[in-house]
Amino acid sequence: MIQPDTSADGGGRTPAEPDFSRLLERLPGFAYQRRNDTNWSADYLSGQFQELTGLPADDLLNKGHAAYSNLIHPDDREKTIQAMRRALAQGGDYSLEYRVNLPDRGERWFAEYGYGVFDDQGQLQRLAGFVSDITQRKQSDRELERSEYRFRQLLEASRDAISVIDLDGRLLDANRAAPQMFGCPDRDSFLKLHPAEFSPDDQPDGRPSRAAAAAAITESYRQGSLEFPWQHKRLDSGETFETIVGMHRIDLDGKPALLVRVSDVSEQLRYEQRLRQLAFEDPLTGLPNRQAALEWLDQQLQRGKGDSLLVLSIDIDNFQWLNNTFGREQCDRLLVTLASALRAQAGSAGLAARLQSDEFLLIIQLRPSATGGNPAQEQEHQIGQVKASLQASLATTPGLPTVLSFCIGSTLHSGDPLARQHLSDAEDLLQQANTALSEARRAGGNKQAIYEPGMDVVIERRLALESRLSQAIAGREFTIHYQPIVARDGRVVAAEGLMRWPQPDGAWVSPGTFIPLAEKSGRIRALGQWLIDSACAQLAEWRGKGLALSHLSINISPTQLGNNADSLRQQLLRAIERHRLPAAMLQLEITESAVLENMTLARQELESLAAAGFRLALDDFGTGYSSLLTLQRLPFDALKIDKSFVQKAEQDGKSRGLVEACVSIAQKLNLDCVAEGVETELQCLLLRQMGCAFYQGYLFDRPLPAAELESHLRSQP
Ligand code: C2E
Ligand code: CA
Ligand code: CA
Repeated sequence: MIQPDTSADGGGRTPAEPDFSRLLERLPGFAYQRRNDTNWSADYLSGQFQELTGLPADDLLNKGHAAYSNLIHPDDREKTIQAMRRALAQGGDYSLEYRVNLPDRGERWFAEYGYGVFDDQGQLQRLAGFVSDITQRKQSDRELERSEYRFRQLLEASRDAISVIDLDGRLLDANRAAPQMFGCPDRDSFLKLHPAEFSPDDQPDGRPSRAAAAAAITESYRQGSLEFPWQHKRLDSGETFETIVGMHRIDLDGKPALLVRVSDVSEQLRYEQRLRQLAFEDPLTGLPNRQAALEWLDQQLQRGKGDSLLVLSIDIDNFQWLNNTFGREQCDRLLVTLASALRAQAGSAGLAARLQSDEFLLIIQLRPSATGGNPAQEQEHQIGQVKASLQASLATTPGLPTVLSFCIGSTLHSGDPLARQHLSDAEDLLQQANTALSEARRAGGNKQAIYEPGMDVVIERRLALESRLSQAIAGREFTIHYQPIVARDGRVVAAEGLMRWPQPDGAWVSPGTFIPLAEKSGRIRALGQWLIDSACAQLAEWRGKGLALSHLSINISPTQLGNNADSLRQQLLRAIERHRLPAAMLQLEITESAVLENMTLARQELESLAAAGFRLALDDFGTGYSSLLTLQRLPFDALKIDKSFVQKAEQDGKSRGLVEACVSIAQKLNLDCVAEGVETELQCLLLRQMGCAFYQGYLFDRPLPAAELESHLRSQP
């Protein structure tokens, strides 16, 4: 209790009313004091107050205010005394926070509040004060401040636009990147805008932006968080750009709000577009490449409208000589000229493609009536026309050789169903045209040949291989070689298992040949089962020997995906159980095309594999059509850049940019990035500079027999 020192003896006491004091005993209260003097004293201290301070009542009771004020931290002391004076003068309530130095307890934070007690005449008699220890709250406040500061720093450093909006979409806060991204001069003017102002009226899928945004806000709030692609617009230029938006529900001082993160992915999408072109289009002539032609042809065959297809494989004679004589640049112009002539020949119903340097493909659709007579005659006629048009194109382009000769191989796919039964797919048709072309070349320059079944050694060889394959699968004639995957420091951290089919003569058939055969003939499941089990057995053995491999990668063929009675997932789970392996030690490589073939199915299956703990890698990245927006929805852990891109990166800047895009896509999606087919120091150096973390290729090692990989791992420090 504090009491003003008014009496002559300096210690006049007001007796505490018994009931009141009992009440006070239960509070950390401490003071009574009479208004008047600058030197006031406590004349009552509750038991709780004494506990709080650890000080005996006698040290403070009726000792003048300094007895207590001296305990207050020097920085807080003056303002506390001033506040008390004011309260005494004005009889008002007061509230303070200050630090005290207590003899036993060190520095503590106290909060004190008090109010005036008045007599019947309305004169202030004393102040009653109550104290509580708020040290803990102060500490957590400070930590919060510190973490809020750190958080703010992080937000400010982010290149993504990060903002907080309320459920009506109004902007409450934003980081520095936000106004920059949306082309707004500064943060203040940015915060005055409604987000609808930096979206185009409609999204690319046709939904009005306003309604779609409102729906996204509601949905994010309901689900807790949501991520979706969104087209935004810059305010200054009106230019639109593609983003990925993440919204997360947060609580802002008791009110629901959303933290919104916008990543600009337009650059990645541009690169993607280029990747796609590079994968499906010949950069020089703009014609589709072999892969794209195959897909187109496949579709035509499946549609099977009954039209006949004439497939021509066209090769320029002596192209090497032309190249040497006229120079590369001139020959490039030649190819471009021929390409446009072929495009014109193909018309809208057909297709022209460039297969290799001087090899073109032309597919022409023939009306049924056209072949009604003699198919061979019709083919001759068409070939004649094509040759004439190619020659004509040369005449109109100055600076090019005026006469050229070509070899042409052709095959006709008649539209009737019987013929279709004999042909399994587009690949076969291309193969036939190619066989005919070889036949024409064998006969010398300026020749043409029409495919006949007898020419077909390749296809026959394939059939023979197919029948041997099923015996080999039954007899388990395969083995696995392991190619190291190394980290930036050169250490082998993982490996990819690649199947090998050894032949009696010591050679082996490449998996590139027999895997597609096994897929086509439906034997891939049995083969895959063997691979899974053998790879797991090997991995378990290495693990038992304490060899440090973070995981082993195996290839999964698209035909192994797809729900059926014995699903891939079950096969895998059985294998890791049998060999007592953690699922995370097995990485499944799946090619882009496999994923894209059946997106819905693949997604379900991949999710269930990921949920079971298996690692997933996207193989041959860059060769398919996958987009960043689809990829980020799939549970991949790693991305493998296709070797064709890695190898081109060395030669030209454009391809280098593409590999860089792959690396940055991996980073964006938080995936491990593995570059395949690294053969030279220079490739490795470039990849390193781009930030690629893992490498695989002949520069480090070829695929090795298990024992060799093992000794390699043992020799690692
Ligand atoms: P992939 O999955 O892209 O495997 C990488 C291929 O690149 C392997 O060819 C490997 O030997 C080769 N390679 C590795 N480093 C280099 C390099 O520095 N330069 C070059 N030029 N090539 C390199 P491989 O073993 O002939 O396999 C070919 C394809 O066969 C594989 O391509 C994969 O798609 C498929 N495959 C292999 N084993 C299996 C398997 O067990 N199951 C399935 N479904 N497919 C498999
Ligand atoms: Ca692979
Ligand atoms: Ca690959």
